[in-house]
Amino acid sequence: MSKNPLFATRASRMKASEIRELLKLLDQPGIISFAGGIPDPALFPADAFSQAFQAALGPQTQAQALQYSVSEGYVPLREWLVQHMREIGVTCDIDNILITSGSQQALDYLGKLFLSPGDTALVGWPTYLGALAAFNAYEPRFDRLNGNSGAAEHKAAAGDGAVKFAYLSADFANPTGETLDRQGREALLDLAEELDCAIIEDGAYQALRYDGDPIPPILSLELARKGSIENCRTIYCGSFSKTLSPGLRMGWVVAPKPTISQLVLLKQAADLHSATINQMAVHDVAQACFDSHIPQVRAVYQNRRDVMLDALEQHMPDGVEWTRPEGGMFIWVTLPAGVSGSELLARASDTVKVAFVPGQAFFPDGSGANTIRLSFSNSDEAAIREGIRRLGEVLRA
Ligand code: PMP
Repeated sequence: MSKNPLFATRASRMKASEIRELLKLLDQPGIISFAGGIPDPALFPADAFSQAFQAALGPQTQAQALQYSVSEGYVPLREWLVQHMREIGVTCDIDNILITSGSQQALDYLGKLFLSPGDTALVGWPTYLGALAAFNAYEPRFDRLNGNSGAAEHKAAAGDGAVKFAYLSADFANPTGETLDRQGREALLDLAEELDCAIIEDGAYQALRYDGDPIPPILSLELARKGSIENCRTIYCGSFSKTLSPGLRMGWVVAPKPTISQLVLLKQAADLHSATINQMAVHDVAQACFDSHIPQVRAVYQNRRDVMLDALEQHMPDGVEWTRPEGGMFIWVTLPAGVSGSELLARASDTVKVAFVPGQAFFPDGSGANTIRLSFSNSDEAAIREGIRRLGEVLRA
């Protein structure tokens, strides 16, 4: 179907998300899906939310809960986040925090705020598909972060545009599951200084560490250098999607006040504010049980990660390699050169009813044909063992 000529040039760069299309596979009976990186609904604190929504709709607060509210976000929730950020090493105040409708909205706003057509966004190769989609609408070029290029090469490659930011998930990235070590974080801060660009730190999986020592967020390391968040170039995006509930669409941004003020203007233009009642409920639940809930979530996913790693060890033929993430939801598999992830998906979903995401979609340049992403978060132990066994069978055939 050809595009409507009335649409803006940016529309020609937008394409349907392969992942969304694949999620439809979940509806097929009997399929074992490692495709969507979605939380296990059994882990939602549903009773706590039920009570929180009832309380919000009670006589004292119903008018507030159902009313418009400020664009920056519900004050008690921002206060809770000031405390939460302090616990992970980031000192900020309430005016450094904007509540967004999921961290996905923050990625869109940041693309809109920073990128003029032709500007450069530095991203990993591969990168979270939703970030590529969000930024892509603002017509940037993508350049490879952590290739082997230094500041001079990135500047030269940027041509007439400027390098505006580096985007990454430092902890348990989607899609690779990998974590950037402390040295790598410090080196990235040095690179950003040389390029005089921002860093967008995506903390979507930050709370989901299963083993190894926590590494301070990039923003925390920059704070140690610069003393105040107002001097920092790192913008931190957080999310309640992987810890409490993705359906409520609750995320946040931590940034210097002038950046928050600009983002507030974008929020006003886009949706005025995130749902008042959801912010009240998330605050209530976070305050009541975040600290006791997270260890339960971690325990379940840790076990699933272990089971998947064990099954891969047992069933993958020689020449297949994979990451060993310390947290998050994903294992990234590299198939032997010449074996296509998309063709494997076609065969696996058809013949043995196993689904996953071919890795190519996560590469801005369309490379990575021999990679796939496996999510272990939403399958039980038996399904993981059986699914990986079947995948091994298809790969051997
Ligand atoms: N960042 C990363 C790395 C993600 O994987 C996701 C969702 N899968 C998001 C951001 C967006 O999440 P949400 O909008 O639900 O906070």
